[in-house]
Amino acid sequence: MKPLMPSFDRRSARDMLVDAGLRPTRQRLSLAELLFAKGDRHVSAELLQQEAEKVNVSVSLATIYNTLHQFTQAGLLREVAVEGNKAYFDTNTSDHHHFFFEEDNRVVDIPGGMSVDALPEVPEGMEITRVDVVVRLRRKKN
Ligand SMILES: [Zn+2]
Repeated sequence: MKPLMPSFDRRSARDMLVDAGLRPTRQRLSLAELLFAKGDRHVSAELLQQEAEKVNVSVSLATIYNTLHQFTQAGLLREVAVEGNKAYFDTNTSDHHHFFFEEDNRVVDIPGGMSVDALPEVPEGMEITRVDVVVRLRRKKN
């Protein structure tokens, strides 16, 4: 269990956005607060919209997507691409890998991490920026 960040409030959200070079609009502040006050987690745009509605912040899904991508570009989030049309945004931007539970569409950090050996040779003039591993899981069929 990751520690919560009970001290993460609107002021922290403002500092975080300003430090990242983003203008702290009211909508960005609300979404940053929702995203980052709960410690490390993996959030889809749909889940974030539900959380926003619960605290009476009305934001369209398109705006949520835009904001999540802006936060990602600013280095505040990391996108975990699981399927072509499904994106999860990770509040932990450090290098780590994920389990994906197919039955309930859940993304979880692989406990203890994993090592990736035998990386391929990359094309001439290119370098690896990051290796993202998603290990997909389903219940065993007996
Ligand atoms: Zn993660």
